[in-house]
Amino acid sequence: MKAIVVTSQGGPEVLEYKDVEPPQPSEGQLLVDVTYAGINYIDTYFRSGTYPSNPPYIPGTEGCGRVVEDPLGKIAPGTLVAWHAAPGSYAEQVAVDRNRLVAVPEGVAPEVAASMLLQGMTSHYLLHGVRETQPGDTMVVTAGAGGVGLILTQMAAAEEATVYSVVSTEEKEKLAYEAGATKVFRYGEDLAEQIKAENGGGVDVVYDGVGQDTFAMCLNVTRPRGLVCSFGSASGDVEPFKIQELNAHGALFLTRPSLKHYVATDDEFLMRAQAVARAVEEGTVKIRVHPPYSLENARQAHEDLQARKTTGSVVLNV
Ligand code: NDP
Repeated sequence: MKAIVVTSQGGPEVLEYKDVEPPQPSEGQLLVDVTYAGINYIDTYFRSGTYPSNPPYIPGTEGCGRVVEDPLGKIAPGTLVAWHAAPGSYAEQVAVDRNRLVAVPEGVAPEVAASMLLQGMTSHYLLHGVRETQPGDTMVVTAGAGGVGLILTQMAAAEEATVYSVVSTEEKEKLAYEAGATKVFRYGEDLAEQIKAENGGGVDVVYDGVGQDTFAMCLNVTRPRGLVCSFGSASGDVEPFKIQELNAHGALFLTRPSLKHYVATDDEFLMRAQAVARAVEEGTVKIRVHPPYSLENARQAHEDLQARKTTGSVVLNV
């Protein structure tokens, strides 16, 4: 079968389109023909070596596709399923854990299904896991027109939270407003002051996927006893800092969460996955998919994602 292979740690150029052996599903797994593979920022951390990885390997963990065969005979061949945690998803076939997939609801497009779970469940646990969102909560969302950013904004707006979205371009600003942001800002020196002037004294929580470039802003924009949720580092890892900074900024709480700890059990996975699939099916969350790249163009997709050229979710058409 054809697949993308990370040949060594490095930039997008280490992604190669190759012939490889198809996967052998182990007990508890199903073999699936991939229709679309989801691309997530974390794929670039593993590719570059920011997170540990052992090349050569097939990247990607998320996607949507049709079941080839279920050894237990419970899921009919041809059933369209979506998953978020099947290593090797940038490929024509992948082995998926049977306890970590959902059937794609009728009417949900495959490219949407391929990108809804990882970013959707992340948004869900940020709003209903890291803390419980209440109507009237105020929050900052950085990278507000990215894959997570647009879903998080829609879910938060549906909870009647006030969302201050931060983006880098006019096009992204428009998308953030369409997603339900209360007010959209651009990055800059006085960003925290601008948001505090708007909101009158600091927000309850900041959800930051940018990391190094925005961490100081996060501390400055959060109200006393508020929460800084640093869940990603698109601009690089946050530099080491003195814990007393949290005190100096008003006894802040700080967390650095990740999805795997919020879908730790099959039950928790199902609860979040079904909530996301339902919201997408009902249309309360609309997944914006950037124009799909072909599987062999995965390199270009990674380049564009890291160059901030994409909006919404990114997928490979397999
Ligand atoms: P996005 O689609 O949001 O793409 C990244 C965005 O980050 C860019 O579009 C850009 O938006 C912004 N950005 C700001 N500075 C930089 C920079 N220096 N280089 C590149 N991008 C920059 O990606 P995802 O939705 O896949 O992920 C968003 C973040 O969430 C990532 O950090 C990711 O690791 C994290 N994440 C964390 C999870 C967790 O459980 N902890 C789970 C899923 C994602 P703009 O131009 O508007 O600034």
